[in-house]
Amino acid sequence: MQIAMINDKMMELSEVGPEYMDRGTFFGDGVYEVLRSYNGRIFAFDEHIERFANSLEAIEIPVLSGVEGTGVDIKQIRAKVQTCFDKAGIADAKIYFHITRGSGPRDHSPGKDLKPNFFLTISELKQEPKLKTEGVSVSIYPDIRWKRCDIKSLNLLANVMAKSDATKKGCWEAIFYDDNGLITEGSSSAFFAITGDKLQTSELSTHILPSITRKFVIRAARNIGLKIVEESLTAVQARTAAELFLGVTTRDIIPVVRFDGQLIANGSPGRWTKALNEEFRKFTA
Ligand code: PLP
Repeated sequence: MQIAMINDKMMELSEVGPEYMDRGTFFGDGVYEVLRSYNGRIFAFDEHIERFANSLEAIEIPVLSGVEGTGVDIKQIRAKVQTCFDKAGIADAKIYFHITRGSGPRDHSPGKDLKPNFFLTISELKQEPKLKTEGVSVSIYPDIRWKRCDIKSLNLLANVMAKSDATKKGCWEAIFYDDNGLITEGSSSAFFAITGDKLQTSELSTHILPSITRKFVIRAARNIGLKIVEESLTAVQARTAAELFLGVTTRDIIPVVRFDGQLIANGSPGRWTKALNEEFRKFTA
């Protein structure tokens, strides 16, 4: 007799539902996306769908290319997201979805006949205007993640540990630094510094997620006359920057007023960050 137990309930292994036998649960074997809407419109839909397809390809969950063949149909995923969003009727929504490689007996080696599982949630984005008007504090945390942080993988244990450490320290976000003391990104955000008329952020590589917000921040920065430097900075440089901020889909631009205990400038959001926020609004209107 093969046995399983879910919390306190013992059962035949064969009775366990596929939700529990999901490779996403066993191995984090899947990829995800987070999008948001502004005023009833999904922001940067194409960019998020493209990144999702890239993540699927990177972990070799086949993506349907053309009409023939098998694989995840990206067009269908997009349609599902839109249908659920329309049904939810939430103007400012957070949209989460993931695909795992499928359900089956726990075996590292993926079987041939796995059918990917899709899961989605749409919820209301809580308005937190103080985040933008007052800014947030961030802590620092060693970047103990794997070497393919460009994949939006369900494996987020290091990110969770970093965020939990930040919360304990009374901070909103944890900023990762690598073995050379260089900042990569936040545990769930991109990281930016402004000094003079220069906006600095890590270069795209396998060490960071290709943040969609980052892409629009860079566009906004060019529009308002900032020079862009795509090069990681050290924690020491961050401490002495004139302005710091985070970029993440759900909140777009969030000023950072305290970095690892150090007050940034006078401790309130800087003028460039405010200007970037205004410029960003033009994309979301
Ligand atoms: N970096 C990490 C590790 C993230 O988890 C996220 C978002 O969750 C970001 C950066 C920001 O990405 P995006 O702007 O696409 O939300």
